[in-house]
Amino acid sequence: MATAAPQAGGALLIDRAALADNYRALAAQAAPAETAAVVKADGYGLGIAEVAPVLWRAGCRTFFVALAEEGAALRKLLRTARIFVLSGPLPGSVAALRQHELMPVLNELEQIAAWRATGAPAALHVDTGMSRLGLDVSAQALLLAEPARADNLKIALVMSHLACSEEAGHTMNAEQLARFQAVRERLAPVIGRPPASLANSCGIILGRDYALDMVRAGIALYGSEPSGAVPGRFRAVARLFGRVVQLRDVDPGTSVGYGATHRVAVAARLATVAIGYADGYPRSLSNRGIGFFGETPLPLVGRVSMDLTIFDASAAPKLRPGDWIELIGDHLPVDAVAARAGTISYEVLTRLGSRLARIGFGES
Ligand SMILES: *Cc1c(COP(=O)(O)O)cnc(C)c1O
Repeated sequence: MATAAPQAGGALLIDRAALADNYRALAAQAAPAETAAVVKADGYGLGIAEVAPVLWRAGCRTFFVALAEEGAALRKLLRTARIFVLSGPLPGSVAALRQHELMPVLNELEQIAAWRATGAPAALHVDTGMSRLGLDVSAQALLLAEPARADNLKIALVMSHLACSEEAGHTMNAEQLARFQAVRERLAPVIGRPPASLANSCGIILGRDYALDMVRAGIALYGSEPSGAVPGRFRAVARLFGRVVQLRDVDPGTSVGYGATHRVAVAARLATVAIGYADGYPRSLSNRGIGFFGETPLPLVGRVSMDLTIFDASAAPKLRPGDWIELIGDHLPVDAVAARAGTISYEVLTRLGSRLARIGFGES
């Protein structure tokens, strides 16, 4: 790593083989439904240029991004992939969507009106309980009452999104599935019977009933299992390392970091590591985080600062400046780091900063 990123303070290693394995495992679970990959937010923070080609080689042919801009970046990487843009045609973005052959997900009647003149295909999102994106009940009724609103509309996919798939036992799951099936039936006279998609990562785990024609896998591809039902079900993809800048031996009573929130109890050796909240390492890990040097756990002491974090390295006498400390990885799954930080794996991964060296390794 030191040779691959000699000047970096933090390195994000992307295990290509693990990513491809996770794709294939999800695809096997969802089959015969197609498994699309969600690569919004720069491939969940891992770097779209690193993850998208790996997913393509693993057999993925359909991708979802949040914004047209992300779709344009993905188009440069994958010339022939099907790319859906979840936010739809925002005002002023129709030309860019057309130019890069992106398919918007139409979320409301105005978006349908803006898109259908192009004659190009799109997806249609119907809301079944998220109240976030998609045609609501009144818009669905209006579309049925005035079917001319769908003239020239080519719907390649009809989709909805689960609100509670992380809780397998939640009643919302079955309710949303039933609502989605009912809306598909009702809208058939207007949009026909295009392929349907409902499940995200945890939706795939809910079972075959939820897979329909296509699933949209996101976080599980990147190694997290947010339901927590089967820790380690997916292989870890992202490994975060920070580099030791300085070591010091301190006496009992010495205070550590901003706010002096930690005081060492016994003589200790402290390691200052070149990673901080500006790199997306959560500040909420202050006095709660942990790092690993090889097999040795090192408690995070004091506050995480912008560019630096301090670990108690008393247990690692061999540690030297320039060595790397594992912050997310085999010893510290992203779900465990997120739990310590009081957040979710999605936020931990997508915040990983642009200053980190992103290094892919392994074959896919
Ligand atoms: C982000 C997103 C997904 C992927 O969800 P995961 O929980 O990461 O698998 C799927 N569908 C939609 C509409 C999304 O916004």
